[in-house]
Amino acid sequence: MTTFTVVNPATAQPVTDVVMATAEETDALIERAHDAFPAWRDVAPGERARLLRSFASVVDAHLDELADLEVRNAGHTLGNARWEAGNVRDVLNYYSAAPERLFGRQIPVPGGIDVTFHEPLGVVGIIVPWNFPMPIAGWGFGPALAAGNTVVLKPAELTPLTAIRLGELALEAGLPEGVLTVIPGKGSIVGERFVTHPLVRKVCFTGSTEVGKQIMRGCADQVKRVTLELGGKSANIVFADADIAKAAATAPYAVFDNAGQDCCARSRILVQRSAYDEFLGRLETSVKALKVIDPSDPDSEMGPLVSAKQKESVLGYLDGVETAFTGTAPASDGFWVPPTVVLADDPAMPIWREEVFGPVVAVMAFDDEEEAVRLANDTEYGLSGSIFTRDVSRALRVARAVESGNLSVNSHSAVRYWTPFGGYKQSGLGRELGPDAPAAFTEEKNVFIAQEVAQEEEREQP
Ligand code: NAD
Repeated sequence: MTTFTVVNPATAQPVTDVVMATAEETDALIERAHDAFPAWRDVAPGERARLLRSFASVVDAHLDELADLEVRNAGHTLGNARWEAGNVRDVLNYYSAAPERLFGRQIPVPGGIDVTFHEPLGVVGIIVPWNFPMPIAGWGFGPALAAGNTVVLKPAELTPLTAIRLGELALEAGLPEGVLTVIPGKGSIVGERFVTHPLVRKVCFTGSTEVGKQIMRGCADQVKRVTLELGGKSANIVFADADIAKAAATAPYAVFDNAGQDCCARSRILVQRSAYDEFLGRLETSVKALKVIDPSDPDSEMGPLVSAKQKESVLGYLDGVETAFTGTAPASDGFWVPPTVVLADDPAMPIWREEVFGPVVAVMAFDDEEEAVRLANDTEYGLSGSIFTRDVSRALRVARAVESGNLSVNSHSAVRYWTPFGGYKQSGLGRELGPDAPAAFTEEKNVFIAQEVAQEEEREQP
């Protein structure tokens, strides 16, 4: 039996041991999810909706417990962890409206009627990273279950505790056995079986671009459906005409939230040269004021990194790089790195190009709109970004020109479950959330019904 010791990132102390599933156990659970599929697919839409609302209520009733688990397992601040548990509840409530609204179309054709159906795929495999264990799990299982699929879900090795608890709460809420199955284990074993097992009909993967590419290659063997939410290196573009005080006050939260372990982190700040000095001065004040303290303290604004390995990786990026200024961090045990600001003058610098996935931001000056857009797009990623300006025409031009799936103007809006989310370029494939997410967990079937039994078939040549 292989176990994984879950460690509290704020203290480096062990929390508990979790048993990791073997390939054989994974296969058996995938088969059980497959066996549970026909009955779940055939649950009447109103009843499936009611069960999802019941799941949402049970999650809500355990919000404090789930948040506390996430603080201990992932080092998330209490405020964030409460938001994340609430997000699972809200996603379930939002998609509980989908079963009765999974409309097909009626398309005009001669000699009969033509209708389309959205039919569930079967078993959907969801692979979750360690940075947002609860929301990313919910963004997958909410719409997948609403569309009538059964789900097998693999949490990241480092952060399985809230997913395991959500699996138990689903049963408590009345979801039948096998409808949502959480399988803790290694990516190379459990995750890999989601890709190779023929009964898993779609893989929904969130994680690194490198593993995402492997998964896409693996899914190609069975033409398996796949959604990828991958890395990012998003730009926060601040024009000189913006409210510089507000732009500088909010910039730290756009990159240091979750200690920078956020695929949407605005980890490159582009500032128009004429406002550069003012912005940087104000940024220093706001970075130094950030409360980097014990994440279980309700006032905490930033906690530790998730693991010793992640801390080492982040510090590796800072090796030999001159930092402009940093915020504070506790000197205690745990995987702490203070929020760090680096000045960049060369877009070839690794700190400017690569996803650090830690509390590090690089700042660069630009001269005009054309240069800002060119620098923002000079990356293989395209997940999110922000634009600060008072000029509405410029805001619109730049928002249309930046190659990225999720942009905010004069804001760093977080992902909203009722709007679509996903990446351009190597940040991903497909979209999650928003009103169309359930359809992404279905096949569209077209059926023609002849008005009279056809004597001689008129056939369309393919
Ligand atoms: P990761 O790619 O190493 O792991 C993600 C998940 O995939 C884990 O559950 C892991 O066990 C599993 N996995 C690993 N190898 C696998 C394999 N061969 N087959 C199947 N599954 C496998 O990423 P991580 O280190 O957990 O997360 C950090 C990365 O995730 C960052 O690069 C970040 O940008 C990205 N991320 C992206 C989004 C997004 O929505 N775009 C969200 C969160 C994280």
